[in-house]
Amino acid sequence: MSERIPEETIEEIRSSLDIVDVISEYVQLKKQGRNFIGLCPFHGEKTPSFSVSQDKQLYHCFGCGAGGNAFSFVMEYDGLSFIEAVQKLAPKTNVTLPELSIPVNKSEVSDEWKHWYDGHDLAAKLYHHILTSSPEGKKAREYLRKRGFTKTMIDEFQIGYSPDSWSFLSDFLLKRGLKAEDMANCGLVGLRESDGKPFDRFRDRIMFPIWDKQGKVIAFGGRILDPDSEPKYLNSPDSEVFNKGNLLYYFHGARPKMKKKNEAVLFEGYIDVISAHRAGIDYGVGALGTALTESQAKMLRRNVDRVILCYDSDNAGMQATWKNAEILQKAGLEVVVANLPEGYDPDDYIREQGADRFVHDVINRHQTLMAFKSSFLKRGKNVSTEADRLLYMEQMLKEIAKLPKALERDFYIKQLSDDFSVSPEVLKHELSELMAKKEKTVRKEAYKEIQSRTVASAKKMFDAHEAAERHLITLMLQSRSIAEEIEKEIGANFQLEEYQALAALLYSFYGEGYDTNPSSFLERLEDPSLRKLAAELAMKQVNLDLSEQELHDYFKHIRLYPLKQELKELRVQLDQVKEIDERMSIANRILAIQLQLKKAK
Ligand SMILES: [Zn+2]
Repeated sequence: MSERIPEETIEEIRSSLDIVDVISEYVQLKKQGRNFIGLCPFHGEKTPSFSVSQDKQLYHCFGCGAGGNAFSFVMEYDGLSFIEAVQKLAPKTNVTLPELSIPVNKSEVSDEWKHWYDGHDLAAKLYHHILTSSPEGKKAREYLRKRGFTKTMIDEFQIGYSPDSWSFLSDFLLKRGLKAEDMANCGLVGLRESDGKPFDRFRDRIMFPIWDKQGKVIAFGGRILDPDSEPKYLNSPDSEVFNKGNLLYYFHGARPKMKKKNEAVLFEGYIDVISAHRAGIDYGVGALGTALTESQAKMLRRNVDRVILCYDSDNAGMQATWKNAEILQKAGLEVVVANLPEGYDPDDYIREQGADRFVHDVINRHQTLMAFKSSFLKRGKNVSTEADRLLYMEQMLKEIAKLPKALERDFYIKQLSDDFSVSPEVLKHELSELMAKKEKTVRKEAYKEIQSRTVASAKKMFDAHEAAERHLITLMLQSRSIAEEIEKEIGANFQLEEYQALAALLYSFYGEGYDTNPSSFLERLEDPSLRKLAAELAMKQVNLDLSEQELHDYFKHIRLYPLKQELKELRVQLDQVKEIDERMSIANRILAIQLQLKKAK
């Protein structure tokens, strides 16, 4: 790289950042002992194994092995290069970055993605300008005003308007130097089959930019003005950059607020998110399709403990609520349901009933998932007839059986027995049969999990030697003076490749005059797997006050290891060799080693 940020500047930024502040913007952290813990953002989990040390300015996950300092966290989480991570974090400090003459994006982002970002950025600005300040946008402006959109909302959500033309956007982008093919590849325009010329995909539509996690526009949703046109909503096609299943609408804007509240509201579409935002619900996001994916659920789980589902109150909306609730629960989220009166979607409700009622009667008066399931299961049934009543009770019992807590199960059994004057004993009996069936499958799964865990832990068992090398590197990372002693006593005698590499790098780090500083040392590790290993070891709590004797036991262990290995191999050879002279020479070598080992004791 020809263009670099000076090392001192990077060091200055690193030392003025607090890793706990940086990571707290992405992960909910709780103080535990000396460290902070939270749910790992790099793998799905329900119990926290992600640990952040403020003293050492490092993080490490005991579940998946992720680890590093503030820069590597942002690199890994946001998918940034090192320089981009530095640029992202610098504004949080008082350090000013030197102007880089070459924009970093050029070398770090592939050309294709750069065209994508540039094209979408230009298109979003153009559409927004047309909507807010051009005569062509008048009709759309009036339409939005009638629907209660304010200027603030239109600006906050960068809403725009695409004029009724086949070439408005394509001409504009071509003039700005974008190629037809690139624009078509990223879904901004289509290509005519007859002559391959670009044409506008979105015509006479209200345009809603869709952002990625970093807040870059990567796609559009377009809604018709004319109620007779079809389709009502048109989205950019899915592609490498725009993957609906990995995105939530307005996630980048809502994230800080949802983290603060430890709660998010999930809506079906962007109009709902925007209307609710105006009503003061600024921690809402939208799914960009009806069925939520596991990765969308994980995005929410990393930021909040609870999700309020607020979908349309029609049959399709309720079905989506049910399905998505299960996906969210599986990701470890608590789920509640905001109830809209029959026939409403959130946007209709806010326009007709007002923002206050939406907040108080819908969002704040949310119901438990079981209450929602009960009302959904009653739909279309006439529970005063015996057949429907039995069917309803059976379906409810199945849902009750899924509840993890006995107290909860009892509560709903009691409710069911009161509602239909059935004895609770009968219901409990039915329930226990259902649960026995479920238990069997759960036990099978648990058994499988234990088996795979045993294999994994066997892999993690280090033999005595590896443990010794590992421990010495851990000490070296956390103490310059111990490192210097180790260099004197052991030097390059580490046997295992990764520890050998770390030892060499640590010797030179301290040799250059640096003091103990694991986070700064990590900066120099280009190999991500070495960096993770170093972070893991540096995070370990070790006693740095160990006695000379303890330290020397480790040294001896490391020094004698090659001899012990040789001894083992010679014994195997002795069993196999028949030739008498050869046997004698092997035996002599064995004796010599044994003597050497004895002396060393
Ligand atoms: Zn992890």
